[in-house]
Amino acid sequence: MMNTSKSSFKRLLIVSYRLPFSIQQTEEGAELLQNSGGLVSAVLSMAEQMGQNQGKSATKIHWVGHGDSSLQQLNSSALENDTFVAHPVFMDAAVHKGFYEGFSNDLIWPLFHYFPSYASFKEHDFDCYKQANTRFLEELTALIEPGDLVWIHDFQLMLLPDMLRQAIPDATIGYFFHIPFPTYEIIKLLPRTWRQSLINGILGADVVGFHTTDYVQHFMQSVSEVLYLPIINQRIILPDRAVIVNAFPISIDFNKFNSSGQEADVFAIQQHYKNLLRHNKIIFSVDRLDYTKGITSRLLGYERFLIQNPDWHDKVTFVMTVVPSRDKIAQYQELKREIEETVGRINGLFGTIGWRPIVYSYRSLTFTELMALYTACNIALITPVRDGMNLVCKEFVASRHDLKGVLILSELAGAAQELQDAIIINPTDTQEVADAIKQALVMPLAEQERRLQHMRKHLQNHNVFRWSHDFLSAFNDMITNQPSLETDLPIQPFISAFSDAHKRLLLVDFDGTLAP
Ligand code: UDP
Repeated sequence: MMNTSKSSFKRLLIVSYRLPFSIQQTEEGAELLQNSGGLVSAVLSMAEQMGQNQGKSATKIHWVGHGDSSLQQLNSSALENDTFVAHPVFMDAAVHKGFYEGFSNDLIWPLFHYFPSYASFKEHDFDCYKQANTRFLEELTALIEPGDLVWIHDFQLMLLPDMLRQAIPDATIGYFFHIPFPTYEIIKLLPRTWRQSLINGILGADVVGFHTTDYVQHFMQSVSEVLYLPIINQRIILPDRAVIVNAFPISIDFNKFNSSGQEADVFAIQQHYKNLLRHNKIIFSVDRLDYTKGITSRLLGYERFLIQNPDWHDKVTFVMTVVPSRDKIAQYQELKREIEETVGRINGLFGTIGWRPIVYSYRSLTFTELMALYTACNIALITPVRDGMNLVCKEFVASRHDLKGVLILSELAGAAQELQDAIIINPTDTQEVADAIKQALVMPLAEQERRLQHMRKHLQNHNVFRWSHDFLSAFNDMITNQPSLETDLPIQPFISAFSDAHKRLLLVDFDGTLAP
C-alpha cells in the first residue's frame, strides 16, 4: 500500500561503523572536520538533492558511528559543524572487540570474500555483534523523527535495519552493503540461526543496495533459501510490505580525479618519479594490506613475465605500494612477511646494480603522490582475488586525461562488471597475468586511447553522485510503485516461480514467520 508520508524526507541520517570525521583542536576548543572521502561527497550531494526536491534549504546531516573513548570528553558543540552533526556510539571495549575484530573482521570479512578457512565462528562474537547493533539502535531511536530517511551502511550493521523496523515500524530505511554478497553455498556455512538473523536483519530496510547484479542475485537466492520468501522482479515480498533490492555500483568523484591529474604539483612529482626510474615503463599497484587483494599472486605474475621476457629487463619497474592495515594481527603479519619475502626474492633474482625490478613500499601515500603515480604509470595492475568493487582502478582511469596507460583488472573485482575495456584477467592465473603485462606494454597508443575513452565515459556518467542519487530515486520508486498485497500480488502467480520446497513452505509460512 502506498505510504504518502514517505514521499519527502525531512533529514538524512547516515549510520556506518566509522564516523568520517576528525576533531581538530582550535583556540576556541575542538572543531569537527569532515573527511574528503567519496562517501561524504556522495552524502552531501544526496542531501542537496533532497533539499532541492523539497524546495527548501538542506538541513544538517546526522551521522551515527562508533566513537572511541576520546570523543567522550567533548561537549556536543564540538560534534557539529555547518553541515554535519556527529553522533558517536560508545560501547564496552570487550563488546566492541567481539563485534568488530571478532564477528565483523574475523568471520564476515573472510567468509564473504570466499576465504572460509580464515573464518572464525564464535558464539561470543555473535552475542557482541547483537549487542553492538543494539547500541547503534539506541542512539538512532533517540535521534530519529518522523520524516527522516535513515541510510545504514555495511556488514558491521546487518541486524540494525530490522531492529529499527521493529522499534519504529514507519521508519524509512535504506541499507547498502559495501562488500561482496557471496553465493548461498557460503551463506550456508553460517549456523542456521545466524544466517536467518542476518538476512532478516537486512530485510528491515525498504531499499537494499549492492554493487553488482551478481551480488543482488546471490542475496535473492539466500533470501529464498533461508527465509523462503517470495520474490517478484527486484522485490522481496513480506506480509506487510515489499523490499526493493538492486545494484548500485559505488563510484568516485570523476571530476576530482580528472582535474587533479592535470595539476602542476602532481605533474612535478610525476616527472620526478619518471626521472628517478630512468624513464622505464612503470607498472603501479596500491592496496591495503589484505589477503583479498591478491598481492602475492600479482608478484608471481610479474615474476613469470620477467622469466619469459628477458628483453624487458631493465626497461620496466613495478612500483608496488601496500598501505598498512591490521598489521598487529598475526594473519596480516604473516601476509606482510610473505609479500616482502617474495619481493626480496624477485629483486634478488633479477635485479642488477642499476635496476630494481620492484620498488616496494609499505606506507600510505598522500593524495598528490597517489595522483602522481596514477598519471606516471603505463600499467595499473589491479588483481584482487575478491573485491566488492575496487575504487583504485576507477581512480586510475579517471586521472588519465592524457588517454595513455593500460588497466589490467581482475575479473573478481566488482569493478570488472563495468570496466570491460580493461584487460580482464584471473588473478590466480600466473600465465594470464604475465601475458597481460606483455600485451599492455606493447599496446599501441590508439588502442590505449580507445579503451580509456570508453571507460572514462562510463565513469563520467556513473560517478559517486549518480550512485547516491540512484539510491535516493529507489525510494521514490518504492513510494510510487508500492504493490498492494491484496490486489496486485495474488499468491498463485508467484508460487510458480519457486521450487517445490518453496511452494510448500510458502503456503504454510506466508504469514511471515520463519520456517522451522
Ligand atoms: N588510498 C588511501 N591511501 C593511500 C592509497 C590509497 O586512502 O595511501 C585510497 C584510494 O584512493 C581508494 C581507497 O584508498 O579511494 C581504496 O579503495 P578500494 O575500494 O580500492 O579498496 P578498499 O581499501 O576499500 O578495500
